[in-house]
Amino acid sequence: MTLKDRHGAFISLTDTPGELAVKDNICVQGFMCTASSKLLENYEPPYTATAVQKLQKQGLTVMGKTSCDEFACGSTGTHTSLANPRNPLDEKRVPGGSSSGSAIAVKDGLVRYAIGSDTGGSVRCPATFCQIVGYRPSYGQISRYGLMDMCMSFDTIGTLTRNVDDAIYLITGMSGKDDKDLTTMNSVDVKETPGLAGKRLVAFRQILESCDPGIREKFNEATEKAKLHVDVIDFPEIHKSIPTYYMIVFAEFASAMQRFDGKFFGKNRELLGQEVKRRILLGTFISQKENKDKWYTQAINARKWFQQKFEAMFAKYDFVINPTMPSPAPLVGEITDPITEYSMDLGTIFPSLMMGPSISLPYQGMGIQLTGKRFSDSALLYSARDLEGAL
Ligand code: GLN
Repeated sequence: MTLKDRHGAFISLTDTPGELAVKDNICVQGFMCTASSKLLENYEPPYTATAVQKLQKQGLTVMGKTSCDEFACGSTGTHTSLANPRNPLDEKRVPGGSSSGSAIAVKDGLVRYAIGSDTGGSVRCPATFCQIVGYRPSYGQISRYGLMDMCMSFDTIGTLTRNVDDAIYLITGMSGKDDKDLTTMNSVDVKETPGLAGKRLVAFRQILESCDPGIREKFNEATEKAKLHVDVIDFPEIHKSIPTYYMIVFAEFASAMQRFDGKFFGKNRELLGQEVKRRILLGTFISQKENKDKWYTQAINARKWFQQKFEAMFAKYDFVINPTMPSPAPLVGEITDPITEYSMDLGTIFPSLMMGPSISLPYQGMGIQLTGKRFSDSALLYSARDLEGAL
């Protein structure tokens, strides 16, 4: 198989059969780690990410490293010059990003399991567009050691699988405290728990209204089919989650990218793609002393506001349910401006702000997403398994 074949899933690939594909922003010894960027085209990391090490101990073999949006920045999967990822269900369409290659590899049956990273939706978006299951664990559930930072305070390693059972298998294997990542201190073991019966579900009217009518219809059809009772409530401020998330992403991303100075680490920064450059410029601007209070500090305060709001909401409800993405997979080249691309993330960003786990299940071309409070991973996974059976 040549690398560019098979819908552009892989950046590098071994000849030996394996059952695990790893997004190319997660370090695995013996493989290059490019983050789908020309800047790191020849970078070979001297160590393996903790999450991958744990899966290897469990007996899984890494088959290859998968393409993604450069440094995990994007929602289409096509912001890279190292691969040409396409949606396996319709090659005219994007696979979704940023963990595009991992979703393609699973959908095409090249591997059974894939992992990616999810900062604001990057496993759930491609899982939706490629019609598989995407899981973002609670922040702190899985070690980020060996994952290249995009935005440290939101980044998680997540899974892309054909079904919820496979996600449970991977999450169980990867979870746990790691001395190399202090945010994992409170990681909770995943174990079988009661599922969806009796769980209280809520949806936000403003997210439903932001979706294409066809997506809304299928969402209603799915909840009826699964006999779910969903309270639909107003949450107009949810629209502010997008600028809140992106301000924090820009600032942390610009800071994380400083290490690639072209002297000690990485090649010439001119090789970076447009989206990455945009984020570095904006992040540098809003982090400057004279601008910081106006943009970055406000975003940090807004994140706190969202966290409090969700804490109160999770006293009343177990899970938030919504369509993962507001529209079907866009055509390649259809999205030409960043604001349109950022606004696609309305359904996937709020779990990042409040650090909770979130899963997307495929349903008739769309995604049904369930989100729980932080460290409710077991309840969420086993409820999602029930929902999967009912759809
Ligand atoms: N689309 C979002 C962004 O570009 C999410 C990316 C991600 O989760 N890595 O920031």
